[in-house]
Amino acid sequence: MCVFCRIVKGEASGEIVYQDEEVTAFRDINPKAPTHILVVPNKHIRSLAYVEPEDTFLLGRLLQVVKDLAHQEGIERSGYRLVMNCGYGAGQVVNHLHLHLLGGWRLD
Ligand code: 5GP
Ligand code: ZN
Repeated sequence: MCVFCRIVKGEASGEIVYQDEEVTAFRDINPKAPTHILVVPNKHIRSLAYVEPEDTFLLGRLLQVVKDLAHQEGIERSGYRLVMNCGYGAGQVVNHLHLHLLGGWRLD
């Protein structure tokens, strides 16, 4: 089982900030921004390249969770960035589809 599947099931440590039946969000172990959260489907999908038509609703839910998390984390005003790496060449290290939610930079 992959590391993100184990975090989803509570079998590996991860600071979970949101979870429901379909989606889990937890803090990245090696944050690249003041706020760095990974948002993943609970179902194991290797990457965007492995998404099926029946996953369309699930993909939309990931974005809805991002929106709610941005509010929860108080980073709406400062802005945030979403990153999804697809494939080894793009830097995907964990083969479980995930969105990086990056934000929390200071406003000058
Ligand atoms: P990728 O490069 O695959 O898009 O991103 C994988 C991300 O997962 C990296 O930012 C890395 O720091 C994070 N990561 C890898 N292993 C773990 C882990 O066991 N726990 C948590 N919370 N994050 C992890
Ligand atoms: Zn997995």
